[in-house]
Amino acid sequence: MSGCIMPDTMANPLVCDRNIDFLLYEVLDAPSLCTLPTFAEHGRETFDLVLQNSRRFAREVLFPTYKPMDAEPPQLENGRIVLHPAWRKIYPQLCSLDLIAASRPFAVGGQQLPLLLTTLASAYLMAGNLNVAGILGLTAGAAHLIEAFGSDELRQEFMTRMYRGEWTGTMALTEPHAGSSLADVKTRATPTADGHYLIQGAKIFISGGDHDLTDNIVHMTLARIDGAPAGLKGISLFAVPRRRRHGDGWVDNDVAVTGMIHKIGWRGAPSLALQFGEQGDCNGWLCGEPGRGLSCMFQMMNEARLMVGTNGVATASVAYHQAVQYARERPQGRPLSSKADASRPQVPIVEHADVRRMLLRQKAIVEGGLALLATAAKQADLFGHAGTAAERHRAGLLLDLLTPIAKSFPAEYGFESNALALQVHGGYGYSSEFLPEAWLRDQKLNSLHEGTTGIHGIDLLGRKVVAEGGAALVILQEEILATVARAQRAAIFPTLCERLAETMASVLPLTMQLASKGLQGDVEGMLLHSADYLQLLSIVVVSWQWLLQAAVAAEKLAAGTLTTDMQTTERDFYEGKLCAAQYWLATELPRVPQLLALCQQGEDSYARMKPEWF
Ligand SMILES: Cc1cc2nc3c(=O)[nH]c(=O)nc-3n(C[C@H](O)[C@H](O)[C@H](O)COP(=O)(O)OP(=O)(O)OC[C@H]3O[C@@H](n4cnc5c(N)ncnc54)[C@H](O)[C@@H]3O)c2cc1C
Repeated sequence: MSGCIMPDTMANPLVCDRNIDFLLYEVLDAPSLCTLPTFAEHGRETFDLVLQNSRRFAREVLFPTYKPMDAEPPQLENGRIVLHPAWRKIYPQLCSLDLIAASRPFAVGGQQLPLLLTTLASAYLMAGNLNVAGILGLTAGAAHLIEAFGSDELRQEFMTRMYRGEWTGTMALTEPHAGSSLADVKTRATPTADGHYLIQGAKIFISGGDHDLTDNIVHMTLARIDGAPAGLKGISLFAVPRRRRHGDGWVDNDVAVTGMIHKIGWRGAPSLALQFGEQGDCNGWLCGEPGRGLSCMFQMMNEARLMVGTNGVATASVAYHQAVQYARERPQGRPLSSKADASRPQVPIVEHADVRRMLLRQKAIVEGGLALLATAAKQADLFGHAGTAAERHRAGLLLDLLTPIAKSFPAEYGFESNALALQVHGGYGYSSEFLPEAWLRDQKLNSLHEGTTGIHGIDLLGRKVVAEGGAALVILQEEILATVARAQRAAIFPTLCERLAETMASVLPLTMQLASKGLQGDVEGMLLHSADYLQLLSIVVVSWQWLLQAAVAAEKLAAGTLTTDMQTTERDFYEGKLCAAQYWLATELPRVPQLLALCQQGEDSYARMKPEWF
């Protein structure tokens, strides 16, 4: 390894602080949320404190444990999972950040902070060590299900401990034969005279399904009450703890670990096969109404989708920052103009245009993706807490539309971004001494869990954009046109501004054409190119996010308010934003007409392709 730059010589920022501040305070005006009664006790000071704690913890505590955890995954010993020893040191510190219930009401022990803030704070933790950050999100989502749908007893017994981190939570949906198709869940729930249910069935891939961190784990489980109809309407939601109260003490609740998934990424966290009720003694408590399990679970799934998107951005971000530092320090070759002159010193590879291309593409994906996640999180805050019903409705429609994109874009483009970070490292990137290969492995999961990208394409086109006669797309168009107008006032990218407005306008008739196919009974035809539709709308949405950032940057540069001591770094920051926006709009927007034509014309190669022709 001599002659190369060792990864541990680098201090990785994980996520750019300046960019987080830019999004919160210059683009999305986060403090304006504090005019809403729910967030009235907060202001920029609280926001900065939360961010500062998350940043410090992610950099100083989490990041140093990432590589050891990747190298030494959990072990299954005597039916129990034993985690890497670093977990035990970190976990109490993680809980003391008070992030599990951060966005929940004061009344349940939360801090009533906007999701916009907690999403960005959690990006640091995910970039530092996603294995550890994952358990926090799962516990928060599981406890929130009990808060929303559980009985008072469950809230008292389970939720409070989970929000404090004394117990953790999981989502137990997937079964060996029922992954994308949750309608086929078979786990059974048999009512008892005591009010609880006896749960019996096999679950697989359950993240955080067992560990040696806390006394108990609550599995939010989808199961079918005896006699319930087949399909989604027969599914109910249960809280199933690993241990249950018995008299004055606690006993095992007949939840067995039957196998551990040997994963290519997220190797520090356990994902398990679980068997409920092997001995016929697994108790579960109903949450919500019988038969409404999936609709209750959608609360956690939608939260988890934004979390997965944030994870995708965070995983691309940490690798991008590593690649930037490497490119600045790795000497190799000479400028094209003086290539023949070997007497001249080598230049850092960042001097080569093709390396800058790879870095700029990563920047465009990472910062475009982060802006998208932040926008979606702000819409979630407005949906929950805006002053009028009309504002909440509007935010809800936009959030619904953005969710499949905010989940899938960082996963798919993030994977490309992570591959580019490895590429920037040349041959060293292909070695496990360097971290980019590990982040690439991690990133792959984000296109699979919480609904595969294929399923989200179907969800976007089949449900989200056609809901209420296409109302969400109309709102999106209004937002985009407002941004275009702002960019035009700032006198940036006149041609690209026009192109974005035209491209958005072309999505509306396409959607109507596809929706009318569906209405005429040709659902297969309508959804044939749902993956292309997801990609084209993702490009449009991220272009909107980039144009908005560019407009803000241009306004700041034009205002002439940069003081002399801040001038260089601040100017660099805004110029970088303008360059990345130009790159994204110029490179990606032209792809939309081609994708649009595939959808419009219903190109039918894979529709015609018979399974036996492969
Ligand atoms: C590491 C890891 C952690 C996980 N954590 C959890 C967890 O905590 N809790 C939990 O419940 N689950 C968890 N999962 C499960 C995850 O959500 C599923 O793997 C995912 O939903 C896909 O299901 P599947 O693996 O059965 O694949 P399948 O559903 O068999 O899909 C295989 C392929 O077929 C495609 N496909 C399937 N159906 C359709 C369709 N109707 N139309 C078009 N294409 C289709 C998919 O897009 C995919 O490409 C985890 C998975 C992994 C790998």
